[in-house]
Amino acid sequence: MGDQSKSVNSRPWGYQPRDKQAQPSWELHPDTLGIRAGLARSGFGETGEALYLTSGFTYESAEQAVSSFADETDHFLYSRFGNPTVAMFEERLAALEGAEFCTATGSGMSAMFASIACMVETGDHIVASAAMFSSCYVVLNEILPKWGITCEFVRGNDPDLWAKALSKKTKVVFVETPSNPLLEVVDLRMVSDLAHKVGATVIVDNVMASPVLQNPLQHGADVVMYSATKHIDGQGRVLGGAILGSKEYQQNHLSQFIRHTGPTLSAFNAWVLVKSLETISMRVHRMNDNAQAIAEFLDTQKKIKTVNYPGLASHPGYEINKKQMRGGGTTISFEFDGSADDLFKMMNKLTVIDISNNLGDSKSLITHPASTTHRRLAPELRAELGINDSVVRLSVGLEHSSDLIRDLSEALK
Ligand SMILES: *Cc1c(COP(=O)(O)O)cnc(C)c1O
Repeated sequence: MGDQSKSVNSRPWGYQPRDKQAQPSWELHPDTLGIRAGLARSGFGETGEALYLTSGFTYESAEQAVSSFADETDHFLYSRFGNPTVAMFEERLAALEGAEFCTATGSGMSAMFASIACMVETGDHIVASAAMFSSCYVVLNEILPKWGITCEFVRGNDPDLWAKALSKKTKVVFVETPSNPLLEVVDLRMVSDLAHKVGATVIVDNVMASPVLQNPLQHGADVVMYSATKHIDGQGRVLGGAILGSKEYQQNHLSQFIRHTGPTLSAFNAWVLVKSLETISMRVHRMNDNAQAIAEFLDTQKKIKTVNYPGLASHPGYEINKKQMRGGGTTISFEFDGSADDLFKMMNKLTVIDISNNLGDSKSLITHPASTTHRRLAPELRAELGINDSVVRLSVGLEHSSDLIRDLSEALK
């Protein structure tokens, strides 16, 4: 026992910044970056990323504390501002996304709120695509207006509609694509070009696509936000969020807001999430293939009126989706031909697929948006968006597609 602790203590230890390690001389594939980027080993040389479960950090001297606070060194100060495990997650996700920076947050909603709140003030205007996750809608439609920030919601991909809504007062354009739950696709290039003409910052909620299937910065957007709770964890364990974009946005807007309002990701959750990034490419591609097969199956079913899936040629967003996404995605929604009662009966008959409002999980999950995830939307908007009582959303997981198709076909009988 004594010997063991001596040998441990005799080893060098401490956080090694990534730039002190040798780097490959070529550009790595995103699949490799998901496994390797951001890795900062301690002197113990551990293979798995270390969990630095600490709130604070110590200094070698009073002078080092002074210079650390003056931002002259890379020393971590306090886990609300930065933590080595959180930094590994942030660096890895930034590499996967192809972004200059990433700031992790405690949930997708804190990422969404901070990404906008850090840049707006009273009198500013926001323009958003109308089809979105309901908590995002509450932020834009109920919370920000209390501070004199107004939001206008635009439907569809009509450039004239977007141009009419945008003005010099527009500070932020917020877009969710594909949208939850109807999988509407917004043309990111078209919206970004129009938004930039009036000097607005384009923020994309990229939760439904994940960094594996869509990178909005490549299509003109300025900022990307995630709920890491979804595909990034992808195994139903922790909440998390992330904001990615340019250094300019981080330095001039986000950094101070995050630091002093504290929507920080916990080191433990960051540790779960950094390990999840190692498998995200494999997982999301498989889920995407499963979803494509299931959407094609559902499309042939008499009891189903319409199938919304951007990977089907019949989907109105099929062409734009092909231009900006690497697949139709992992989520399908469909309109059942029958009453809400019949629909609930069908859901209750499923034996593999679980009833749950989460998505992006390795387990396939089905939900009824009108009564759960999207109940906070104004009924008129819900009707306008087409989220009626017969619509169900299916988040396709990693089970074998034959079992998922069998489960659905038995339940539809
Ligand atoms: C889940 C979700 C969010 C919110 O993320 P949380 O981690 O639950 O806070 C935001 N946008 C979309 C599209 C989502 O699906």
